[in-house]
Parts: sequence; C-alpha cells; structure tokens
Amino acid sequence: MSDCLFCKISAGDVPAEKVHDDGELFAIKDINPTAPVHLLIIPHKHIETIADLEAAHAELIGKVYLTARDIARDEGFDEDGYRVVANCKRDGGQTVFHIHFHLLAGRPMSWPPG
Ligand code: 5GP
Ligand code: ZN
Repeated sequence: MSDCLFCKISAGDVPAEKVHDDGELFAIKDINPTAPVHLLIIPHKHIETIADLEAAHAELIGKVYLTARDIARDEGFDEDGYRVVANCKRDGGQTVFHIHFHLLAGRPMSWPPG
C-alpha cells in the first residue's frame, strides 16, 4: 500500500526507531508515547484492521503476543507487567489503518480505558 504509513516504515521509506524485526513482525517506538515504554508491534504484511483478519493470519497474530512477551523479558518489565492493545476502526480509536499492537509499560495502567 503506497500511501500507508506503516508500509512505508516497513519498507524503510519513513524512518522509525526500530527495536525488533524478525521479517514477519517489527516493533518501533511510538512517535507520541503515552507511557514510559510505548512500542508498536506491526506485521510487515498490510492488513488494515482486526476486522480484516482471516484464519490464515492466526499464527501471525499469535506471534504478536510471543513477541510482546520476549520484548518485555528483554527490556525487564515482564515482572511489573504491561498492556498489549489493538484499536479497531472509529470507535476503537484506530488512526493508522495498518494493523498494529500497542505494547505499553512503565506505569500502572487504569481500567477501563477512556
Ligand atoms: P492507533 O491510534 O491507530 O491505535 O495507533 C497509531 C499510533 O501510531 C499512535 O500511537 C501514533 O502516535 C503512532 N504514530 C503515528 N505516526 C507515527 C510515525 O510516523 N512514527 C511512529 N513511530 N509512530 C507513529
Ligand atoms: Zn500498510
């Protein structure tokens, strides 16, 4: 998708602070962090929203959580905890229409979200 921000970051055409890349998924620092740790775990493959997921994506999406687990261990916040969240479409608060998972840590999170 030539006009997709995360496709451009995936391709290296837009710079980002990348902290992980296994060829299928990459993780970058959010440009507008809302917690001391705010990463985005993003499939290289362009999938617009959770609503566009198919059964064939199950392994890929499962791997998102394994990646979050590994980053949390590596960065040392797995004991204190963290939040993984994906926003879907308008009411979910999605602003970039290339599926991504926020990995938030470094402060207590409130519930429910606003
Ligand atoms: P959404 O609102 O779609 O769930 O999340 C999109 C996220 O992408 C937001 O947290 C926003 O700060 C982040 N973001 C938007 N543009 C950029 C950018 O150019 N680079 C990076 N690293 N993050 C971005
Ligand atoms: Zn894309």
